[in-house]
Amino acid sequence: MRRPKSKDFKKQQRISEETEIELLKSWIQTQQVDSGSNPMSLPPLPKNAPIGRVDENTFSRYAGVANFNQLPLSKKTKDGLKDGKFVSMTDIQRASLPHALCGRDILGAAKTGSGKTLAFIIPVLEKLYRERWGPEDGVGSIIISPTRELAGQLFDVLKSVGKHHNFSAGLLIGGRKDVDMEKERVNELNILICTPGRLLQHMDETPNFDCSQMQVLVLDEADRILDSGFKRELNAIISQLPKRRQTLLFSATQTKSVQDLARLSLKDPEYLSVHEESVSATPTLLKQIVMVVPLDQKLDMVWSFIKTHLQSKILVFLSSCKQVKFVYEAFKKLHPGIPLKCLHGRMKQERRMAIYSEFCEKRSVLFCTDVAARGLDFNKAVDWVVQVDCPENVASYIHRVGRTARYKSGGKSVLFLLPSEIQMLEKFKAAKVPVHFNKPRKELLQPVSALLASLLAKYPDLQPRAQRAFITYLRSIHLQKDKEIFDVTKLPIDEYSASLGLPMTPKIRFLNQKIKSKAVSKEQISAEPESPKKENALMVTKKKLATDDSDDEEEENDLLLAADTLNEDDEAKASEIGEVIPATRVSKKKKLKINVHRPLGTRVVFDDEGNTLAPLARIADTQSGKESMLLDPEQKAEYYRRMREDLKKADKEDKLVDRQRRREKRIKQKMKLKEVDEEDDMSESEEEETADRRNKRKKVYFDSDSDSDDGDLNEDTGKAGVTLEEQEALALKLLDSMQS
Ligand code: ADP
Ligand code: MG
Repeated sequence: MRRPKSKDFKKQQRISEETEIELLKSWIQTQQVDSGSNPMSLPPLPKNAPIGRVDENTFSRYAGVANFNQLPLSKKTKDGLKDGKFVSMTDIQRASLPHALCGRDILGAAKTGSGKTLAFIIPVLEKLYRERWGPEDGVGSIIISPTRELAGQLFDVLKSVGKHHNFSAGLLIGGRKDVDMEKERVNELNILICTPGRLLQHMDETPNFDCSQMQVLVLDEADRILDSGFKRELNAIISQLPKRRQTLLFSATQTKSVQDLARLSLKDPEYLSVHEESVSATPTLLKQIVMVVPLDQKLDMVWSFIKTHLQSKILVFLSSCKQVKFVYEAFKKLHPGIPLKCLHGRMKQERRMAIYSEFCEKRSVLFCTDVAARGLDFNKAVDWVVQVDCPENVASYIHRVGRTARYKSGGKSVLFLLPSEIQMLEKFKAAKVPVHFNKPRKELLQPVSALLASLLAKYPDLQPRAQRAFITYLRSIHLQKDKEIFDVTKLPIDEYSASLGLPMTPKIRFLNQKIKSKAVSKEQISAEPESPKKENALMVTKKKLATDDSDDEEEENDLLLAADTLNEDDEAKASEIGEVIPATRVSKKKKLKINVHRPLGTRVVFDDEGNTLAPLARIADTQSGKESMLLDPEQKAEYYRRMREDLKKADKEDKLVDRQRRREKRIKQKMKLKEVDEEDDMSESEEEETADRRNKRKKVYFDSDSDSDDGDLNEDTGKAGVTLEEQEALALKLLDSMQS
């Protein structure tokens, strides 16, 4: 609680602010940098040169200066920067701030982790300050972020750097309850940080929501917000904003498409791409590794990677929520010896925020979708970014790896490419992404597929998860735009299914006849006798697992051979390697072998969802720790034949039930008048479902009973019936001492 300030004090302060603003305006005006020039080409001011007013009508040059305190900024902003220990500017800040402070539109491109946030937060604060923006003036600036987590992070930066200012600010993101409370207050807020869906919700639903006076519009991760995923939202938002405004666009991978920019009606924008001349499009301190890993060995590889990097903070990207869920759940049960977490767009917002901040604080492995690919600046540095699935394009790759090696710290990344995706290497080269090509050290691989098979048997709930992970991965490949790289027909689907621990390859309806499943291999395998040697290997792995919980000494890079820098021969080399990498996971035969222990004639029992395999679970339990009992091959073949029949039958029934359920769901949905807004789910490969939702969304926008878009003004509160402190937090005064 603040003590009320005396009237005299307030008056004094007002006068000194007015004087300061006059000075700032003249300084900015008289020393403005030429349009079209890059201030970086100017030398820094000499040491001890006067700053600000030099004599009656002269001011110091502020273009090209090295430090924040040499810029025409208010004392409040300078104090905020000082508190945050921001002294010298990064390249993008040096290049863009002199233009932005003059009120020009900016298209700013600079590598990940290079300080773009301050390059737009500072001009926003300064513009509103110089305009003497107050509570009654309403919305003065809107900052749009593609994801909720990034919006939250921008909000934190705004709160910190702007803490000496008097503006009120609000974080408007999906997934919050209490949207009504938010609606009541949104008109009083000066700076809105939002995701596109939630902003549009307010534009459409909040009575008297007024942004007709808005001064500065910011799109962070601009190319993402301008791409097709947000097209409808963004067009609707833009149509409601005043034409006279300053627009600031920032990203590490900037759009130059005239069409995209025309939608924003920019006025002679300054295109500032500070790292265009740089030899690499990624941070210099980032070491990037690419390895060819066959699809059915990916999980072995990521498991081994985690097991050999137990002291690291690791971000693991997968291509869909369902893969994230499965890998996270399954690996968690195997206790790798480092905490595991997961983050994806289908989680409740509170959980998402909690996971995000936990990962910021602690060493752990975070399995995530592209929801975490952009903008996030994890507090304590991420050591490794592991891309298990190939990103959709180079831009997406750059953003994912950009979660490490931020500002002046180093970082490492590894990308697993399928042999069929090897052409990515050419694209990296063309985009100036310097990757090192490494071979995995196969002797250090710790196969996990066999363990997954026994897990699936032991925990029946995991089985449908594995199936969904399988389907969504294939679907994500099927839906990829770049058909040169992604070809679902080239994937070894049976082997992949087995590598997830699944006893049978699930049906892939969306592909119809596209993939001819290699049914032969299944037949062969079921009839093949098992090798006792391999079984022993499995037992050894199991025993090892039991002691795995201890925090092993981590040996950096121990999975990876010394790097060869990418050169002309790499593509050929890579495909060679792709072929010669020996099968390192316990083969499919091995996994199926778990079923060998099952008493003959045991029926596979399905629950209402068509999922459960309880008898398998029983078998896994009774057999754990025992030596293998080999059944004779004929019995085994017979057993598998029955199992296949059962599964087929169950599959048929499932389909019927599923169809019925979907029909009912559709009818229900039609009756609903509101629709879900899940802006950041678009970044995840659930396209079929999302496309569905989008179509419906054309009619109506929001769904009050979902967990997606009912809001709360502040990330600190989540409930109605707020206390005084909470209300204060809700209003989110950056500094309200002047008004209180
Ligand atoms: P980008 O948006 O370009 O990816 P961020 O704005 O998230 O990068 O900044 C990356 C990190 O660098 C953040 O931790 C931020 O606090 C820090 N940073 C930004 N500018 C400066 C600066 N001028 N001096 C010191 N640290 C900075
Ligand atoms: Mg950023």
